[in-house]
Amino acid sequence: MTRKETYACPTCNGAVRYHAAVCPKCDADLGAIAQLNEMPDVLFNTALEAARKGQLLEAIENLLVAIHFRPDDAGAWRLLGKLCGKSDSEKSAQECFAMALRYESSSKDNDTCGMDMSFLKKLGNM
Ligand SMILES: [Zn+2]
Repeated sequence: MTRKETYACPTCNGAVRYHAAVCPKCDADLGAIAQLNEMPDVLFNTALEAARKGQLLEAIENLLVAIHFRPDDAGAWRLLGKLCGKSDSEKSAQECFAMALRYESSSKDNDTCGMDMSFLKKLGNM
């Protein structure tokens, strides 16, 4: 992930970790911000669970919202691509994998990159 680990506290401008509920420098209550920062992860996990149950539409809806919060989330794009492929939206699937590859290329965790490339090739041969 290329995401920054910290952000500036709105009260004191000090560095705060993304999921911290309280600013370590000024003790400001950052619970609401922490919840917002966790939202894309919660949505992604909900999508993953829905996908495992075969609830494609629910999974896709959750991923779209997750991506709205975090447009550079290669993992969310990759999963969305797989789900679009399953629901016969080949063009959308290809676009999603292209987005995943775009963000993966600037990130450290591209260990599943090869797998997705072969999936893309398969889609292209259909
Ligand atoms: Zn602060």
